[in-house]
Amino acid sequence: MPAAAESKSYLIRGGRVYDHDGDVHQPAQADILIENGVIARVEPGIAAPAGVEVIDAGGRLVAPGFVNAHYHSHDVMLKGMFEEMPFDIWALHTNASSYGARSHREVRVRTLIGAAEMLRNGITTVQDFLTVYPAEEAYVDTVLSAYEEAGIRVAFGIAARDRAALDIAPLMKELPEAIRQRLVGTSRPAKEELDFIAGQMKRLGKNPKPLITWVLTPSAPQRCSPELLEGLAALSREHGLPVFTHVYETRPQAAAARVQSVSLLDILSRAGLMNERLNLVHGVWLSASDIATLAEAKARVVHNPISNLKLKSGAAPILDLHRAGIEIALGCDNYSCAETQNIFIAMRMLCLLPAITSPEPHPINAAMALRAATLTGAKAVGLEGKAGALKPGMAADLMILNLNEPAFVPFNSAARQIVFSEAGGAVEAVFVGGRPVVRDFRLVTVDETALAAEAAELSPGFRLEAEALAKRSADLIAPLLEGSRAAWKVKLGIERYIGAKE
Ligand SMILES: [Zn+2]
Repeated sequence: MPAAAESKSYLIRGGRVYDHDGDVHQPAQADILIENGVIARVEPGIAAPAGVEVIDAGGRLVAPGFVNAHYHSHDVMLKGMFEEMPFDIWALHTNASSYGARSHREVRVRTLIGAAEMLRNGITTVQDFLTVYPAEEAYVDTVLSAYEEAGIRVAFGIAARDRAALDIAPLMKELPEAIRQRLVGTSRPAKEELDFIAGQMKRLGKNPKPLITWVLTPSAPQRCSPELLEGLAALSREHGLPVFTHVYETRPQAAAARVQSVSLLDILSRAGLMNERLNLVHGVWLSASDIATLAEAKARVVHNPISNLKLKSGAAPILDLHRAGIEIALGCDNYSCAETQNIFIAMRMLCLLPAITSPEPHPINAAMALRAATLTGAKAVGLEGKAGALKPGMAADLMILNLNEPAFVPFNSAARQIVFSEAGGAVEAVFVGGRPVVRDFRLVTVDETALAAEAAELSPGFRLEAEALAKRSADLIAPLLEGSRAAWKVKLGIERYIGAKE
């Protein structure tokens, strides 16, 4: 069971309670009793036990908290710094190692900024796929303490890569070593990466903090040696840990694999990672046979619709994945390529994006999007049966939406208005592990005004660093774009853009 954040009991009284299996349009009214961080009862007319705090939810909708199944907290300070741009150019501007070691104050502030926005938007669990740079345990501690301070549930993964491999390199004519190093840094021994991750797991234990658990996060198959992937697969088996990895996010990645006659899924299979614990992030350029392989392995896909578009990666084959029976979780991805941690928008895009490839009605409706954002996300991060629905025995991770806010007036359908109308403005209260972390539309765990003031102190210096990096890297843009165009000369038999034919 996920540990409780609080032992105090609460009775959320008189709200409409969203039930995935009930009337998703006009949910019935019920009371929710929370004890020891867990939902104890959900039924109408619960008498308040002694010592319980009663929360009036009349005129409100209580919904399960969202799981943000893909996020990287290392580049929060880059929010709003870039227009849309192709992935490889974006990577040039955002690589964590290009920014050097950050101060612990900045690391704390950036972690809190992300956590604060998520909680305000009803996200109760996040999968942080963190590049810890430099790889020092003090940074891990700073990040985990900030998350504990905010009160959000975290499935924490330390990004692992040992190869200084540049995704697009196989498509670039000549890549002088000096340029390669500027783009990707230097290779590290697989053992060093594995020892750091296993060492942190050992040092901090199964639950580094009451609401924090581990996941494993190899950056991408092409950026890791077989030794590193096999080592992570062994850790996953031994501890039953979910694995997240970026696969076929962009056309250049798929084209590079094709020209080298490799399959990124085969690499994962050979390492022992192709199983139900695997969550493949993005998957925009999966082929039909890749989709069949994933379905057979019962692996999931984490869909990041906003970053897929902002980085011009294309539209993921959501309908094909769904038809193949592959479960889809939702992520918001980095601030540098998606700007906001908002699952309402991700759900909306999940439902709407299939329209660009098919005019037919499709089964990806609002209720299904809500399942993706809650139950599937929970399964992805290892919380199946423990979070994602408002049922007795589940963690009390939930949000209370005020139905007098514009998105819900008039109130015709909970599911459709959560997915198609709401963007976070109606989130009045949020509980994580039974602890109220948002009340009356404000965070109670973090002083948001003070946090904004700290961010304002740090951001001018950070902006200068980002601008200096952009200046230093300007000469690399033309060769990268050339490589990106070369990807179009490689036939893949996959279309992920309208009107862009092979
Ligand atoms: Zn990512």
